[in-house]
Amino acid sequence: MNPVELIRRKRNGEILTTDEINFLIQGYTKNKIPDYQFSALLMAIFLKGMTTEETAALTEAMLHSGKVINLDSIKGVKVDKHSTGGVGDKTSLILAPIVAAAGVNVPMISGRGLGHTGGTLDKLESIPGFRTDLTLTEYKKVLRKCGVVLIGQTKNIAPADKLIYALRDVTATVESIPLITASIMSKKLAEGIDGLVLDVKTGSGAFMRETSDAIDLANSLINTAKAFNKKVIGFITDMNQPLGNYIGNWLEVYESVKILKDESRGDLFELSTNLSGAMIYLGGKASSINEGVEISQSLINNGKAFEKFCEIVKAQGGKVRYIDNPEKYPKSKVIEKVYSKNSGYINKIDTFALGMAALELGAGRMKKEDKIEPKAGIIFYPKIGDKIRKGDLIAELRCESAKKITFVKQKLYDIIEFSDTEASKPELIKRIIN
Ligand code: URA
Repeated sequence: MNPVELIRRKRNGEILTTDEINFLIQGYTKNKIPDYQFSALLMAIFLKGMTTEETAALTEAMLHSGKVINLDSIKGVKVDKHSTGGVGDKTSLILAPIVAAAGVNVPMISGRGLGHTGGTLDKLESIPGFRTDLTLTEYKKVLRKCGVVLIGQTKNIAPADKLIYALRDVTATVESIPLITASIMSKKLAEGIDGLVLDVKTGSGAFMRETSDAIDLANSLINTAKAFNKKVIGFITDMNQPLGNYIGNWLEVYESVKILKDESRGDLFELSTNLSGAMIYLGGKASSINEGVEISQSLINNGKAFEKFCEIVKAQGGKVRYIDNPEKYPKSKVIEKVYSKNSGYINKIDTFALGMAALELGAGRMKKEDKIEPKAGIIFYPKIGDKIRKGDLIAELRCESAKKITFVKQKLYDIIEFSDTEASKPELIKRIIN
């Protein structure tokens, strides 16, 4: 096969066969196809798209570029969740212990922060001692013991994705539905799962700003999961404002603990228990998503979900005393309260800019090699539709540098748009695709 001919065919909008897609992925992974040719192929895919069958073939080729974990030795159904990312999105920390406490295994392989969004691994690593770099043997051991494990992508899981993602990042080919689908699904399918719940976000803090694009991505992910005989449910959820109130790694663990201890409710509680409800349903421990939601709420209420979270932290080397007593966690050097300069109803929040502001305080990375400051971040109080008076507390900034805080504080005022009339609150769960 000739890569030039295959690139030309894709450029002309033709359909590639499974063998041709395998040839291209293997060629690139084994260094036989150079970056310049693969970049041209990626751009052709970006512009011309792929059919459902091509996307499944691409996913399969990327999946088999590495190891597929076999969890047959662990009894019970295994279900995971994937979110396309957002600001303050910490649902994994809440739903993983809930679902495991309901008797469904959760073998979760997560990522780090990407752009303005936070990553589950960075959040977990803010717990002193918590290890996300378990070996495959340790991964299975913790899963067998706790019914849940939370680790990062190892180098033998979908290595083709790592190479291709880095190339997409520098060739303006990230925002392509077939490429995103194959990237996400090749990693998720490598976990050895039976079912998957997808949380595809839409709005000012999401990668898919338009709901129609989020629905297209959800359908593409669902079709691919089905092509691999996996049970799947897709949620389209709102990201026009942060989820919960806490943005930043330790701050998000802190808020998750409050939810798990049943000390806080609101949008974060609602979305987490809906996603966990769907996972419990896929895992066969509830007869409907609604029943799964009720089970989730009762597991928070009776303390079992929090107990499970402590068990995970302990099994993965984390210091449980900070979870039991979060007030013991070290405090940021600089804490600055921000008060509103305006009165009116909150009409819009630039959630992307809010995520970037948290990143500038140290909660994320500007460059790949940057170190995260686990305590840094923003507690952001207002929600769309709220009535605010001049002088009301709107946020609290946490950082190690006073200079950075002054800079971010100025930006924060532009992030909120006020109006004289009450804006309607965005619908949190816009659609469930079953
Ligand atoms: N997350 C991924 O893992 N891959 C993509 O392509 C986009 C988001």
